[in-house]
Amino acid sequence: MEIVIKNLSKIFKGDEKKGIDDTIAVNNVSINIKNNELVGLLGPSGCGKSTTLYMIAGLKEPSSGEIWFDNEEVTNLASEKRGIGFVFQNYALYPHMNVYKNIAFPLTNLKIDAYKKEYKIEMLTKENEILSNYEELVNIIKDSSLNNKISKERAIVFIIDKYIISPSFAKRLFNHKLFTISSKEELKNKVDNIINENNIKIKEIKDKYLKRNLKIDDSFYITNLNDEKIIQRRKLVYDEIDLMVREVARLVQIEEQLDKKPKELSGGQQQRVAIARALVKKPRVLLLDEPLSNLDARLRIKTREEIKRIQKETGITTVFVTHDQEEAMSICDEIVVMNNGKVMQEGKPIEIYKNPSNLFVAKFLGTPPINVFKGIIKEDGIYVDNEKISSLKNENYINKEVYVGIRPEGFIFVSSKKDEDNLDTISLRVKEITLNGKDTTLTLEHDSFIGENIKIVVDSDLNINIDTYQFKIKTNKMFVFDIDSEERIEIK
Ligand code: ATP
Repeated sequence: MEIVIKNLSKIFKGDEKKGIDDTIAVNNVSINIKNNELVGLLGPSGCGKSTTLYMIAGLKEPSSGEIWFDNEEVTNLASEKRGIGFVFQNYALYPHMNVYKNIAFPLTNLKIDAYKKEYKIEMLTKENEILSNYEELVNIIKDSSLNNKISKERAIVFIIDKYIISPSFAKRLFNHKLFTISSKEELKNKVDNIINENNIKIKEIKDKYLKRNLKIDDSFYITNLNDEKIIQRRKLVYDEIDLMVREVARLVQIEEQLDKKPKELSGGQQQRVAIARALVKKPRVLLLDEPLSNLDARLRIKTREEIKRIQKETGITTVFVTHDQEEAMSICDEIVVMNNGKVMQEGKPIEIYKNPSNLFVAKFLGTPPINVFKGIIKEDGIYVDNEKISSLKNENYINKEVYVGIRPEGFIFVSSKKDEDNLDTISLRVKEITLNGKDTTLTLEHDSFIGENIKIVVDSDLNINIDTYQFKIKTNKMFVFDIDSEERIEIK
């Protein structure tokens, strides 16, 4: 599903008596979130990303603006009617319930308009299908044995996994005890008997329906004599809930932990349960508020890949909030960079990185961060201090100060002093050399640098010491910004 946000604002009212001003948490934000995409709302603390997410969820009321889910305006629709799944930062699992019950909880009171189905015939028919290949069933049960002993519990789990059926159905299949019959003929007779009895039962049930002018179609729905399905508003039945819980538990790979209480799980596992609980109702949108912030660094990387996998497997439009640019860059299809309640830029991570539209975005994305110098544009190019570093310029900015941002990978080591072959270079003093394997990170100084240290990444094979060197600048790694508006200006 597509989400369109139009001119959305949220003002938290202050308190005049206490001298607290109003807070404009979200300021005229417009965003297009495409169907099936994983989108990150990215920005520093307090920039309004969570408030935006809560408004999409219907958990906070906008002061103005509109929110659309496909062709339906949901701006004033109650949260529970939006078809969203929400994962809170602290997971908010119910501590007294086991994992299974936590995941099943959103389904327990869910009422659905469903076509009336004849479950008994469905089960008997499926049983006949499974028994038509009874050797497979017997092998599954035998394969589940440990130390040559068959455990009923283990066998039932194996059967559920193979046929995706409810525990009660799996128990029924086990209870035929086919695996105890050694004679091939006896086994075949037993199976034939079960199938025959099932067919008799199916016929009896169908006859009862026919007396009421109802039929059962090939997918086991109850229809009238004109083949129209009968609709019934009802709660989910136990078997339906069980299938949905197990399906989503399998998706987030938590099926082994269903009997545990949340406190018996690791942070990463709790996170999976929270995602499973949000997904179990098959929402139209999945919303995650800083989903990885409670995890340690290693688990964060693993879990973010998991979120990406789950999102791609389900195809569900997903929006997640993060202040971690690396996290957003690594898994998002699109990023919305926010600052001070406003959208600073929206686009594919790599496009934003390659083409930041303002200084804020240029500084926010990238590790190590972009290096920003104060410079000036002259008739013949860009200068930093008295050094001409590039022949590119912008005619409208001649003799104007600008910010010059250069990505860490944008420096080409020249080493020699400025000479005729290397006119456009910048001299930097090396302070520290850190080897990272194939790359080396240099920490350097320059008087016109804004910030603490210049960090650049160069090839490890270069022979660099603590000294002053010349560096050429890759033009596609250098961005120039207006000093007042901090918007990017074109240079050519
Ligand atoms: P963080 O990453 O720290 O959660 P954020 O980008 O998600 O930050 P929001 O939580 O959306 O930011 O908050 C945006 C601004 O709105 C902040 O200045 C915050 O103090 C303010 N704010 C949020 N909720 C309220 C509230 N209920 N009442 C008043 N101000 C609020």
